[in-house]
Amino acid sequence: MPVPKFSSRVLELLRLGFSWFILCSFPQNQAKTDAPDDSPSRADRRAVPYLWRMTDHSTPMTDAGVFTSWLRRMLYSLATDSDTHTPCGDCTGCCRSSNFIHIHPDEKAALRAIPKTLTFPAPGAPKGTRLLGYDAEGRCPLLSDLGCTIYDARPRTCRIYDCRAFAAAGLIPGTATDHPVGRKVGTWRFSYPTSHDKKCHQAVVAAARFLEEKADLFPGRKPPADPAQRTILALKVHRVFLERQSDPDRVASIVEASSRFEAKREALILRKEISPRRFR
Ligand code: SF4
Repeated sequence: MPVPKFSSRVLELLRLGFSWFILCSFPQNQAKTDAPDDSPSRADRRAVPYLWRMTDHSTPMTDAGVFTSWLRRMLYSLATDSDTHTPCGDCTGCCRSSNFIHIHPDEKAALRAIPKTLTFPAPGAPKGTRLLGYDAEGRCPLLSDLGCTIYDARPRTCRIYDCRAFAAAGLIPGTATDHPVGRKVGTWRFSYPTSHDKKCHQAVVAAARFLEEKADLFPGRKPPADPAQRTILALKVHRVFLERQSDPDRVASIVEASSRFEAKREALILRKEISPRRFR
């Protein structure tokens, strides 16, 4: 395989360093949404073919919303650590997925609500960060048959978790049938009122694939192997895939887009008054 050549722009970006933003995933159970029980239209299948293949056709579909509206809101949530308002219905898949949940020192309400005996210091994380574990069946110890017992004070990780992101990127945790979240992911259906909605969705899927298949083109730190982290990165850099570029230029653009997102994130966190409408 030919060795890719990297422009001075790439090398400069790498020298400055960039970090892949890590979503430590997870759940919540919130607003109820009625699920339309129709299957994806032929147009949807043409727009995002993988979605048709990964769909569990025995389960009613769930309306995931207009793609670009969802994407804008999701990026805003990632940039500001704000609630994603995922219409989980009665699904608690992410609370049953054997996930460790980070609780950061500034999450006072969550730290007060969770018995200290259920958490432990998070290895390698800033001082004061705790990890919430799960039981032998992979369930969060705060999950009851009625849902989260500390819903109003649940950790930030749970608030920003939105499994529609997996549907957007075409990456599913586990397989669609054997994973509590994978099953739900296969039932989401976005709508595409404009051609731009379809193009954006195809760009996110293309970004996720590129990050997986062309990981070796990234000198230094490679894109994350974990599907959740790769999904989040694909959302952040999807715009790169709205244009045609050579692979080396694409790598440079991805690094640049990721750095730009983190810079915007820092700016937004300092100015929380910015509305999701203005987040592009
Ligand atoms: S804290 Fe609540 S929302 Fe978060 S994983 Fe546990 S039960 Fe689910």
